[in-house]
Amino acid sequence: MHVIYGGTFDPIHHGHLRLALEVVDALQVERVNLVPCHIPPHRSGTGATSAQRLEMICLAIEGEARLCVDDRELQRAGASYTADTLRQLRHELGPHQPLVMVVGTDAFASFDQWREWRGIPELAHIVVVSRPGSELPEGSAASCLLDERRAETVSDLWQAPAGKILEFDSPLIDISATGIRQRISGGHSVRYLLPDSVLQRIHEQGLYGACPDRNF
Ligand code: ATP
Repeated sequence: MHVIYGGTFDPIHHGHLRLALEVVDALQVERVNLVPCHIPPHRSGTGATSAQRLEMICLAIEGEARLCVDDRELQRAGASYTADTLRQLRHELGPHQPLVMVVGTDAFASFDQWREWRGIPELAHIVVVSRPGSELPEGSAASCLLDERRAETVSDLWQAPAGKILEFDSPLIDISATGIRQRISGGHSVRYLLPDSVLQRIHEQGLYGACPDRNF
């Protein structure tokens, strides 16, 4: 089984990292692949560049063999579409190996706005992870899709290459990258919300408005 977990990771934090390890345990896989997405240049003024986000992920997962980074979306020019990434992976893995995409409820709630969303379950399983403060609106396209394709157990995911959606209640960790960026730009501490190595890099490079010489 190949598991990907996509996001902007701007910056990566302990909510992402803990969740990824919970998924490793729950699905009984060897690793989860973090897939940072490309951010169009007009948005980079508010966050870190693709290269900086990738570097922070590498620092965060250093020494943790169960977490890897897959930078294929950063290698592609232009916007990153999950359907393209999944198609590419399906081609590499062949038709039989289970492929799983992990998303938080907040991201899955707007699933019907993703490009080629109807085709995505043909390419991969989806694991929807609960996130503090977000629920799937009843009657929404995402919640109907979940009802149609619900997996009852993890073993359902092992029995087919794609097509099932599993709701996964992982422990809730109320950390967001937006909250981290806001705290940093407001001059507040974000220590313990993300790895120290990442925090140090943020300060060294003055990312998100951090003061390079300020003690974090
Ligand atoms: P931002 O605040 O900038 O939107 P974020 O913290 O939501 O960032 P993303 O990189 O956008 O992080 O998230 C990637 C994926 O991780 C999404 O599917 C999101 O739902 C999920 N996610 C992020 N933080 C958490 C968390 N604390 N608990 C559960 N899921 C999370």
